[in-house]
Amino acid sequence: LVSREVKSEDSVIDIDGVKIGGDNFIVIAGPCAVESRDQLLTAAEGVKEAGAHILRGGAFKPRTSPYSFQGLEEKGLEILAEARDLTGLKIVTEIIDAYSLDMSLAYVDLIQIGARNMQNFHLLRQAGKSGKPVILKRGLSATIEEWLMAAEYIMSEGNYNVILCERGIRTFETATRNTLDISAVPLIKGLSHLPIIIDPSHATGDWHLVTPLAKAALAVGANGIMVEVHPNPLQAMCDGPQSLSLKKFSLLMEELKPLSQLL
Ligand code: PEP
Ligand code: MN
Repeated sequence: LVSREVKSEDSVIDIDGVKIGGDNFIVIAGPCAVESRDQLLTAAEGVKEAGAHILRGGAFKPRTSPYSFQGLEEKGLEILAEARDLTGLKIVTEIIDAYSLDMSLAYVDLIQIGARNMQNFHLLRQAGKSGKPVILKRGLSATIEEWLMAAEYIMSEGNYNVILCERGIRTFETATRNTLDISAVPLIKGLSHLPIIIDPSHATGDWHLVTPLAKAALAVGANGIMVEVHPNPLQAMCDGPQSLSLKKFSLLMEELKPLSQLL
C-alpha cells in the first residue's frame, strides 16, 4: 500500500483544508511539551502569526529518564484544543500507547507516533484503526525499508493518511544529537507516494542548525517541516537547546519565503 508502484500519484492528505503532500510545504511548529496554558497559548499565537499551519505540543512525553517531566496528559490536550479554538491552527500530539491514543482522539487533528515507537506494531495497528491522520517518525536506527513497513502496518488497517517524518538517525557522530538523513526524502519519494516532512530540531539537537536544515528540507523536496518553538527556550522543560524562540522562528519563516518562490 505504501508503494509508488501501487499508486503513482502523490498522496495529498487533507486535514480539514490544510493539505499535506504534492506541491505543498507545510510548517508544523510548537513546543516539545505542553507545559502550561500560558506557555502553549503564547507559542500558538506566535507561530500562527509567523505563518505556521499546524501546532505541535507533547501531552505525553516518552522521556529517556523516568524521572524527567512526562507531560500534562489530558490537561495538556485541553490546552491544545483551546489553542486551536483561539488560532485556527490544526493540532498534533504524540501518542505512546492505547491509553494516550484513546484519550487524544477527541481532541487532536493528527496523532504522532514517535521514533521510539516506530516498530510498536500493536500501536501502529491501533493508530490505523483509529482513522486519524498519523505522522510516523523514523525510528532511531530504522532503515528506510523498516520505516515504510511501519507505515504499511497503519495503512493495512485502512488508514491511508500517513505522513512520514525524517528526524535524524543514530550514527557515530556526536557533534549533533542525530544525523539528518536528507537523502531519505528523494529516496522515499521514489519508493512511495506518501508525503514526507523533516524535523530539523530532533535531527540536530541544536537550534543553530535548525534554519539551515529547514532550508535544505525545502530544497530537497520535502512536503514540510516540524520545528520545536518555545516562548522561552532557556526555561523549557524539555528540548530547550534545540528550540527556536518565537522571534527566531519568525525569522526562519521569512528566510524560507524567497526560497519557496525560487522552487
Ligand atoms: C517529539 O517530536 O517530541 C519527539 C519525541 O520526537 P522523536 O520521536 O523524533 O524523538
Ligand atoms: Mn522534543
